[in-house]
Amino acid sequence: MMENKEELARIITAENGKPLKEAQGEIVYSASFLEWFAEEARRIYGDVIPASAKDRRVLVLKQPVGVAAIITPWNFPSAMITRKVGAALAAGCTVVVKPAEDTPLSALALGELANQAGIPAGVYNVVPCSRQQTAAVGEVLCTDPLVSKISFTGSTATGKILLKHAAGTVKRVSMELGGHAPFIVFDSANVDRAVAGALASKFRNSGQTCVCTNRFLVQKGIHDEFVEKFAKAIEKELHVGNGFDAKTTQGPLINEKAVEKVEKHIKDAVSQGASIVTGGKRHSLGKNFFEPTLLTNVTTKMLCTQEETFGPLAPVIRFDTEAEAVAIANAANVGLAGYFYSQDPAQIWRVAEQMEVGMVGVNEGIISSVECPFGGVKESGLGREGSKYGIDEYLEIKYVCLGGL
Ligand code: ADP
Repeated sequence: MMENKEELARIITAENGKPLKEAQGEIVYSASFLEWFAEEARRIYGDVIPASAKDRRVLVLKQPVGVAAIITPWNFPSAMITRKVGAALAAGCTVVVKPAEDTPLSALALGELANQAGIPAGVYNVVPCSRQQTAAVGEVLCTDPLVSKISFTGSTATGKILLKHAAGTVKRVSMELGGHAPFIVFDSANVDRAVAGALASKFRNSGQTCVCTNRFLVQKGIHDEFVEKFAKAIEKELHVGNGFDAKTTQGPLINEKAVEKVEKHIKDAVSQGASIVTGGKRHSLGKNFFEPTLLTNVTTKMLCTQEETFGPLAPVIRFDTEAEAVAIANAANVGLAGYFYSQDPAQIWRVAEQMEVGMVGVNEGIISSVECPFGGVKESGLGREGSKYGIDEYLEIKYVCLGGL
């Protein structure tokens, strides 16, 4: 098993570039879903409901929805599969996994492990496909009447296409879509803690996760100190390089398109008056490597504060009041994760309740974990993964009325 873990981590680093240490972390995270849902399978309880008539008994059974089609992204090529497949198998569903074009190997390796573990043939199926075939394969999966459930993690744009396809046969759907996470630092925050959280939340996986901070909102009293310390931490603690080098914390971005998007956001921001504090351009290593970048004097008119960058860009907006920060944070059509730093208990309750997101980190920059419900509101998606709720996505409730007793 140890060997398998190491090998899977190396496959992840090789296929998506993330540092080996992060890939090893992903394997532990990935395995945690299989373990969690294997245990949850024993707790898929039904119900006996007191009936309104004397000669009746009312039962509730939980049954698997049926074949689940699972479409996953490249940024966590193993964990995004097991988070869905673990729940699906525990519920009693079989699965057809369509991994991302950039990262098919992790999905295939999991297939080999499923064989070794004795999962019967035909239960875990993988259909890798080229970029050219993706739309056609996706359409088959989302329209075939044999498929009962679609679980997707990826961009909001693709999610909407799949939802439209799935509507034809009214399939069950779970959608984990894009985010635009705000990270608010209030004057009352512990600035060192906020900087550590900012670094982790922004630059994990080189900024390529859907819960990565996309915009920093920093209150005027703490702004300059936060920016100075954040810039120093970026320069000291982040090392861009080959994922297999032990000191690398930032691998390459997934492809050229991803690099172009970061460049576009920086160019747009600078043209509207933002200042580059550190980074700002492609890294001297070339190809898809990009310098971790910090921008200040950022406004809500800039592209980087309106859409997900999905790269190592940290734009900082300065604000005056709590109400202003909450309004900016909530002015988005998506709502996946949100973070804020404050040491004022009343403010912590107020802001946590007001944030229009599915997951809130208070004085924490990394919050994903198997026992916690992962998912978003607004156009960030439908349903929850992981946690005691995750298995419900793959279960039907059947009501049985026993009469004439
Ligand atoms: P990202 O921008 O993160 O690559 P995508 O939504 O494009 O997000 O990709 C996530 C997953 O969705 C990948 O497996 C990709 O192949 C798949 N995908 C993209 N477009 C479609 C489509 N039209 N139909 C089905 N799957 C798709």
